Amino acid sequence: MSNPIIAKLFEENEKLKNRVRELESSAVCTYCGKVSHTKDGQAKLDMMIEHMAECEKHPVANLLVEIEALKADKRELVEAIEWAMFDKTPDDLYETLSQAVAKHKEPG
Ligand SMILES: [Zn+2]
Repeated sequence: MSNPIIAKLFEENEKLKNRVRELESSAVCTYCGKVSHTKDGQAKLDMMIEHMAECEKHPVANLLVEIEALKADKRELVEAIEWAMFDKTPDDLYETLSQAVAKHKEPG
């Protein structure tokens, strides 16, 4: 290859091919820039999903924290409802009702 322009173009073409190979065998988090290397498409996807949950800059991590907080709120509400519905004994209810009836019967 005696023509220096053609030689330069071949050199540039080789660099670009290498860059394409590099990009095809890696995945990059667009939020933090972490690069994971693998050629396997499923492995790449799995690595990215795993990274999303732990990436401090990815919005999914914040959503997971919010989901956990909402689950905790839901558990508290369910516990409060269960307590109100099921933890009262028949004696408690009888006592409450008896007091209400007695109060109603008292001469005003
Ligand atoms: Zn990230």
